[in-house]
Amino acid sequence: MSPVIVRVALPVPLPQCFDYTAENVTAGDLGRCVRVPFGRSEKTGLIVDLPDAADLPVERLKPVIAIQREAPALPADWLALVDFAARYYQHPLGEVVAMALPPRLRKADAVAGAEADPLLDLTAQGRDALSASQRESRALALLREIGAHGPRRRSLLRAGEGGTAAVADALKRGWIAPGVAPDPAAMAGAPDLTDEQQAAVEAMSASFGQFQPFLLAGVTGSGKTEVYLRLVQQVIARGEQALILVPEIALTPQLEGRVAGRFPAARVVSLHSALAEGARSQGFVQAMEGRAEIVLGTRLSVFTPLPRLGLIVVDEEHDASYKQHEGVRYSARDLAIWRARQRRVPIVLGSATPSLESWHAADTGRYRRIELTSRAVAAHMPTVRPVDVRRETLQNGLSEHLLRAIDARLKRGEQSLVFLNRRGYAPVLSCPSCGWVSRCPHCTANLVLHLADKRLRCHHCSCETPIPMACPDCGNQDIQPFGRGTQRLEETLAERFPTARVLRIDRDAARTRAQWDALLDQIGKGEADILVGTQMMAKGHDFPKLTFVGVLNADSSLFAADFRAPERLFQQLMQVGGRAGRGELPGEVMVQTQYPDHPLYQCLARHDFARYAELQLQERKQARFPPFAANALLCATADDVATALGWLKETREAALPFAQAFGVQVFDAVPMRMVRLARRERAQLLVEAPGRPALQAFLSAWSRHLWAAKPVRGLRWHLDVDPAEV
Ligand code: ADP
Ligand code: ZN
Ligand code: ZN
Repeated sequence: MSPVIVRVALPVPLPQCFDYTAENVTAGDLGRCVRVPFGRSEKTGLIVDLPDAADLPVERLKPVIAIQREAPALPADWLALVDFAARYYQHPLGEVVAMALPPRLRKADAVAGAEADPLLDLTAQGRDALSASQRESRALALLREIGAHGPRRRSLLRAGEGGTAAVADALKRGWIAPGVAPDPAAMAGAPDLTDEQQAAVEAMSASFGQFQPFLLAGVTGSGKTEVYLRLVQQVIARGEQALILVPEIALTPQLEGRVAGRFPAARVVSLHSALAEGARSQGFVQAMEGRAEIVLGTRLSVFTPLPRLGLIVVDEEHDASYKQHEGVRYSARDLAIWRARQRRVPIVLGSATPSLESWHAADTGRYRRIELTSRAVAAHMPTVRPVDVRRETLQNGLSEHLLRAIDARLKRGEQSLVFLNRRGYAPVLSCPSCGWVSRCPHCTANLVLHLADKRLRCHHCSCETPIPMACPDCGNQDIQPFGRGTQRLEETLAERFPTARVLRIDRDAARTRAQWDALLDQIGKGEADILVGTQMMAKGHDFPKLTFVGVLNADSSLFAADFRAPERLFQQLMQVGGRAGRGELPGEVMVQTQYPDHPLYQCLARHDFARYAELQLQERKQARFPPFAANALLCATADDVATALGWLKETREAALPFAQAFGVQVFDAVPMRMVRLARRERAQLLVEAPGRPALQAFLSAWSRHLWAAKPVRGLRWHLDVDPAEV
């Protein structure tokens, strides 16, 4: 038998796959890892094809070193997924594969995990012990819990009240033992659904077994998670698997606990980038072998192979962290939708403030919108109001209104949060007296302040001007970038409220997970009166005593250069507002602004996301921004920005002849606002297409040119398709 040609995806920054020869290869080896010679060394890659003919004459191909048959082969639908991701995001397949696969895949992992965490049930002795009147002990409390909720995983029991000691004690006494696995779809402690929840579950479950995206738009606390859990239960009962994506690692333990508690007999695999290699491989293989019913994780888990996939849930679907910002710049939400279509399963995108892309898709009927309009447990929405600061003298950014509101909370022993909007948006110039903003004369974007070379630049069309000395509209000389004067915030608060305990919460104060947990604990226990926080504070944590949120510097997002900034601001303020008054006490949110009549704040005050989305979508349509267009960025970094700009300029010129054919516009290159990063200088150019198909067609043609072009020394480039920021 003559040797077979195997095509291998290798983790190298080159666009093509590589052909080798191998003996005794069958179709079953597709999707297996393989060790091959590469240059003067060896590399591990993945067999992605067994082609009939090679790109080179067969006699020039090298033989593989070894096929790793002890690891399971990745299934065909998984290969199709990474192949799509590589093509769509214009990234070498081998690098996509290397990212998506745990570094050390081992077959043994599937079994290892299952045996390591048995389901423990009461034995006959255990039942006797429960009914006999015994001296109270932790082991007995454990028995009662199992008695009430049914068998539970050892790991879950160990995490409970009596901990490892109680579990060991009960095992030693023979009160509990690994039991026969009962129904993994069995649920423990589920509340009755509200009518809205019930209707949502029924509508969605009617689509099991077919592709249908749902947009579950439900206000914070409306019980979206409860809806997911009911759907998951039905999916498990159908003998299928559910994939649940969450935006951040910090939110996984919370949800994991809730899911594991609800489905005591189901196997829940949690996957995120902070897992140790072994644990990641174990979870991955268990999911791939169909042993796990539920996979829960951050964006990377969209690449988990699931042979019996029945449902995908994307929680907080609008969250920017679904998009990866380096390496393979994929959107896990968008890939999840592709995957749902590929596997013909329903997908639920849930959010209180959906992305405008998804909202628009629901408007046009591509997704089905299902709304949850009221909170599941009676609780008031916080009152939200803009505070006009145009005629006020601010004290290091704080208005008297805000300070008085904080004072009132202090007197009542409640907590306040001063929320500082400090996202990395490019600053624009504005005039505090008349509201003028540095807009681009050629498009609807704003001009961005580049302090280094004292210019204003449009990141969209690259038009630029010098910084004006005074406001062009009213002559005021005190024009300034948004958001100055907030640095001394903490000190100002401490001076004004000398007895209050002020706690700052940002990346510096919470560098590690442990520090972050300690901070949350401190706040939860009421050991702080005033919190000063950035976006880290916006998500997912409930503090019953927090009743007031004051927002500073919101306007900077209103007029930021990035067209998505207002959308993010609305989402963030809804979320941060959701932090106030989650307990018994009513909440209040004040937003300091120079534009109190701006529709964004008006809609926010009415909790009217739908109206806001409608207004924003109208603007985007006029400006031809996504979802009414598709974008990509070509970014170049070099030792100096001139090299990067020069290369982009040449590349652009080469693209122009065929850009037209695709109806695609390629704008001029601009230096990035933070030109220097890690000793390199950066520039980018924007590609705008009427839609995704046109963009894709253009990019695949263009990237062939990019790869084929003669490399420039020290220059690196990448494409960012559907960039999160422009
Ligand atoms: P969301 O995900 O929409 O923010 P959750 O599902 O977390 O909302 O629900 C918010 C709170 O309401 C949770 O404490 C949850 O346990 C509770 N809850 C949800 N649905 C119900 C229900 N039908 N009956 C009682 N409590 C519910
Ligand atoms: Zn412009
Ligand atoms: Zn002015």
